[in-house]
Amino acid sequence: MSKNIAILCSGGDVSGMNPALKHFVEYSLKKGLIPYFVYDGYEGLIDNNIRQASYKDVSGIIIRGGTQIGSARSKRFMQPEFREMAKKNLDTLNIDMMIVLGGDGSFRGLDVFYKEHGIKFCGIPSTIDNDIHGTDYCLGVDTALNIIKTSIDSIRDTASAFRRAFVIETMGRDCGYLALISAITSGAELCLIPEVAYDLKSYEEDFKEQIKNGRRYFIAIASEGIKQESQEIADWFEQKIGIESRVSVLGHLQRGGNPTIYDRLMAYKFVTHAINGILDGQEESVICYSKKGFEFKTIDEVTSSKYELDLDLINFL
Ligand code: ADP
Repeated sequence: MSKNIAILCSGGDVSGMNPALKHFVEYSLKKGLIPYFVYDGYEGLIDNNIRQASYKDVSGIIIRGGTQIGSARSKRFMQPEFREMAKKNLDTLNIDMMIVLGGDGSFRGLDVFYKEHGIKFCGIPSTIDNDIHGTDYCLGVDTALNIIKTSIDSIRDTASAFRRAFVIETMGRDCGYLALISAITSGAELCLIPEVAYDLKSYEEDFKEQIKNGRRYFIAIASEGIKQESQEIADWFEQKIGIESRVSVLGHLQRGGNPTIYDRLMAYKFVTHAINGILDGQEESVICYSKKGFEFKTIDEVTSSKYELDLDLINFL
């Protein structure tokens, strides 16, 4: 068996990838492996943008968001002839083990690659949307939540000063996790997520009463996946509740930033389990985390179903 192992980042970047890269290098060396970085995701695999990594490459990166080795989506990797090129590049460097930081799409890609060419891999769920089936936690989520928290705290200052309603839009594609957790932990008055049907009318009487009783502002958290535009929610506040309103779309702010302690720790744990798993004979798996702890799941388990929000959390709404 070769001792050469590579890591790449694929799809959207998250804060926590750099701590993962640092630990990948250090832990690989500790286990007697030779670590390699693949730059720019599957594009780098195809273009042979693969280099041996050392302590020097990861010095100081633990505090940075994003990823030191770049990430990418790759249309070419969907085609067998480019995967063939990727395989040749790995063969030249004698690499037959890979760790992939990405989402379910990236894992599906690597699974196809494994089935064709036998490159063993372990996926580490990495997306701020926290929408990967089979894992309760994806790398980057805690940092994103903390950035959202800081943003909401700042917006609250101005909302209260000016007697306004703020509609704060969070990322998450079809998953309301970021919005839900942020709304609960920021004490928002309204939380709208794609998983729960809502009727704005049902809030009207109560919200107007609250204003009469002295409420100066409202914080509404809207997940990007709901059917209405955030501006429509803001218009509703103005027209039906009678309070001036503003929309704040947090956007890509949520992706970056200094990784939190939790994401640094989870990066270390995910990487340790992933490398141990491959060395112990896991050939095509994703390392998942739930209340039961860390466990390896198959690509099918992770990609065949849609992530479902924990009902216990929804009940807090
Ligand atoms: P995410 O990993 O965040 O879900 P994507 O769904 O965009 O991101 O997938 C990332 C990349 O994974 C794609 O750009 C493509 O290169 C690769 N990929 C996804 N599905 C396949 C597939 N069926 N075959 C080969 N490559 C794939």
